[in-house]
Amino acid sequence: MDRCSFCGRTQKEISVLLSGTEAYICEDCIRQAYDIITNATEKKSGSYPAHIKLKKPVEIKQFLDEYVIGQHHAKKVLSVAVYNHYKRLIHKDVTDGTEIEKSNIILVGQTGTGKTLLARTIARMLNVPFAIVDATVLTEAGYVGEDVESLLSRLLQAADYDVEAAEKGIVFIDELDKIARKGDNPSITRDVSGEGVQQGLLKLLEGAVVSVPPQGGRKHPEQKMIQVDTKNILFICGGAFDGIEKKIANRLNTKVVGYGAQRRIQQLDRDNMIQYVAPQDLKSYGLIPEIIGRLPVLAYLEPLDRAALRSILTEPKNSLIKQYIKLFELDGIELTFDEEALQFIVDKALEYNLGARGLRSICESVMTDAMFEFPSENVSQLRITKEYAMDKLDRDSIRLKAG
Ligand code: ADP
Repeated sequence: MDRCSFCGRTQKEISVLLSGTEAYICEDCIRQAYDIITNATEKKSGSYPAHIKLKKPVEIKQFLDEYVIGQHHAKKVLSVAVYNHYKRLIHKDVTDGTEIEKSNIILVGQTGTGKTLLARTIARMLNVPFAIVDATVLTEAGYVGEDVESLLSRLLQAADYDVEAAEKGIVFIDELDKIARKGDNPSITRDVSGEGVQQGLLKLLEGAVVSVPPQGGRKHPEQKMIQVDTKNILFICGGAFDGIEKKIANRLNTKVVGYGAQRRIQQLDRDNMIQYVAPQDLKSYGLIPEIIGRLPVLAYLEPLDRAALRSILTEPKNSLIKQYIKLFELDGIELTFDEEALQFIVDKALEYNLGARGLRSICESVMTDAMFEFPSENVSQLRITKEYAMDKLDRDSIRLKAG
């Protein structure tokens, strides 16, 4: 009698029995086998590819150009650093004794100039897990706040708890300047929390196997920890370092002796001192030397001028204005902006001095009424003129200024 070669049941006990050359399989075993196969392949493919497809530095920069306006220095430095980092990772098996060290990155520049956007865009390009953490929520173990390890919890969450993917991910630590020690001399002003957090971060930046609470927050004895190796995680730190220009100027002024140096100092671009930022300025600002040593790639972001803000509105691949146009298009409305209206939005952003961050809140104020009313009206076009923008913003300006 014919039997399923897998479960042994006879034809009588089942409704379908397929025959092969020398074996039989029943419908239930086919179903089970199908489940096993789908589970196995799903696990393998995950949401992140096992191998990172790495572009050359020039291509990385071109990719960044599509999303981030200006900031050519930072893009170039970042492209090289990311290329080297992942090259090191991909070729880790080639051992001739030369070990390439990890190069974490620090981005210095005013708020809203694109630090987070750069890090996010790199992660998107590489298709690796990406987490943003604010350094200000981190505290030394034992204090109120989050343990330093919790930033890896975020990365694990972003990676859907795929530890292998997380270990190749990118963590953006924002507001690193806020954990600076107050004052250059540790013996005079001991600012425990800032320095303690820096010490805690050091271990992660260097590369260590860390016990991470999967849900973040404080470590609980009953919570099962996940071991994460940070050796290949790329850390990108960002900070505005308000007032660092003064430290840069001081350094440049005191260092110069002799006629040649004097001339060089006169050629300094005093309106944009951030371009001369060097590791010793970060030390004067209150980062401990060990941390600076673990962030060997230093890049600056320039303040965004009028032309850059105007470009940011319309040029990046998913620029603000393109997003509004798309939102209205989904309701069958053709949305257009007069150039004067865009210039007006830029003027206001400059006035609020929030970098490109201001653009978003201003655009929201201008567009909220339209987004509320127009979907229920029977119109097919909407043109935003300067007058319209002025009128909407006037009503909202008190709130904006207060914010
Ligand atoms: P930062 O991290 O420097 O404070 P973000 O990267 O968060 O600033 O920027 C805030 C927002 O402003 C971003 O979401 C982005 O839309 C926009 N933005 C800032 N800088 C740029 C830039 N150089 N090019 C394009 N958009 C930018």
